[in-house]
This record gives sequence, structure tokens and C-alpha cells, in this order.
Amino acid sequence: MSVLEIKNLHVSIEDKEILKGVNLVIHSGEIHAIMGPNGTGKSTLSQAIMGHPSYQVTQGEILLDGENVLGMAVDERARAGLFLAMQYPSEITGVTNAEFMRAAINARLGENDKMSVMDFIKKLDKHMATLDMPEEMAERYLNEGFSGGEKKRNEILQLMMIEPAFALLDEIDSGLDIDALKVVSKGINAMLGDDFGVLIITHYQRLLNYVEPTFVHIMMDGKIVKSGDASLAKRLEAEGYRGIRDELGLDI
Ligand code: ADP
Ligand code: MG
Ligand code: MG
Repeated sequence: MSVLEIKNLHVSIEDKEILKGVNLVIHSGEIHAIMGPNGTGKSTLSQAIMGHPSYQVTQGEILLDGENVLGMAVDERARAGLFLAMQYPSEITGVTNAEFMRAAINARLGENDKMSVMDFIKKLDKHMATLDMPEEMAERYLNEGFSGGEKKRNEILQLMMIEPAFALLDEIDSGLDIDALKVVSKGINAMLGDDFGVLIITHYQRLLNYVEPTFVHIMMDGKIVKSGDASLAKRLEAEGYRGIRDELGLDI
């Protein structure tokens, strides 16, 4: 069991404050969804948790099992158990998808506990089958020439291979057709258990029909302004953000 705690997090990009005091606690076994209008800082939150250097944390803490991760570089955070599926996954020429995943798994396992090639291939075959991915995708350069939907599916493959303690999934459902959405949901659901927590950033209720959130948070103007259970996402779908703004008396 692990816990990821975000305390009074303030983040700036090029001296402009984007996150203005975010508080969030995620335990293993929980599914958190963050929804919010465009430009409110959802991706900024995920990048800051993962340690992207362009995002300056000016105040607050991010604790993984009580340890402050703010002093850690991106790769150290990954080894510690954090995983980010970016809204726009990057292409890496010259590194195959399989090589990338194998390196990431072995980095997480540590020097003395590397996974054998046979175990790696078995695991890869199994998860690629779950995600309806053709075998050749493992040998292609990472994300190069992948369609939008293939990139998202591939992020879930990485997630299943790396088995982080916490995953941040930034718009993993964007641009997916209904079949791909179901496949991606199947992958997320296969990860669920006592050793895994997830933060799902999404604009739409539809993913949450397949992956039932424990908590739903609404972010506006760099802050979480309201939290609730799965019904909050359904309410948003029905009312849009106007209802929440009116209820909270927000002028943003
Ligand atoms: P969301 O994911 O909620 O749509 P983002 O976190 O991507 O929002 O962006 C929040 C704000 O930060 C926006 O106003 C956006 O223009 C700004 N922003 C994000 N990334 C950068 C960047 N690299 N440089 C400058 N501004 C940025
Ligand atoms: Mg956006
Ligand atoms: Mg975003």
C-alpha cells in the first residue's frame, strides 16, 4: 500500500502561476478523476508530479509514501513508482517500443533484480493480446508513425509492463473511437488492485462509464474547487461547468 500526497502545490510556468494551491491524496486501490475546463492546469499538475523541468514548483510538497519527490529527477520518480501517460506522447526515433519498456522495467526493478528476456517477452505478449495490439508494434520506434489511438493504447501497454505504484493518465481517452476506448479501459481495469492507484485526467464522462472512479475532482483556475464521488462526473455531463460555477459562486 502506498500513498501519494500533494500538499498546497503551487506551480509556475515561465513565472506565470498556473497551479494555485492543489491538495490531493491518492491511496493505492483508489481511482481519482480530475475534470476541468481547458487551460485550468490539469496537465500542469501531472507534469509537476512527474518532475518536468519547465514546471517550477514555487510552494508546497509532493510526497510519495512520506518522501518528498520534489528533489528527484524524472527518472528517479519513475523508479520510485510514478508513471505519467502524457496528453501528447513523444516520439523517440532509434529506440524501439520493446527496448524502451525493457529499460524502464529494469530501471524500476533495480540492478540485482532485472527481468529475464523470456519473462519480458511472455509478459509483453500477454498484455499486447489484452490490448489487441499487433506484435509488430513492439519492434517499431517508440510512437513514431503511431496514430493518435495507437499512442494512447501504447501508453497503457507501458503502464501494464512497468506496473508503477501510481499512474497519471492525461487525457488517455482523447481521440479514441469506442472500440479503442473499451480496450484502454480494459487495460486500466486490469491494473486495479491494492498495489495501484490512478489519477485520470479527462474531459468526458464516457471513460468513467468503464473505469468507475472512487473520487471525482473538478479543477478550475489552478485549484480543485469541488470533489465528490462518481455522480459528480455525471452531474457535470448534464450541467456543464456552469452549474458548478453558479453553486460555488465562482466568476471564472
Ligand atoms: P489543461 O491541461 O487543464 O488544459 P494546462 O496545464 O495544459 O491546462 O495549461 C494551463 C495553463 O498553462 C494554460 O494557460 C497554458 O497556456 C499554460 N501553459 C501550459 N504549458 C505551457 C508552456 N509550456 N509554456 C507556457 N504556458 C504553458
Ligand atoms: Mg487540455
Ligand atoms: Mg491538458
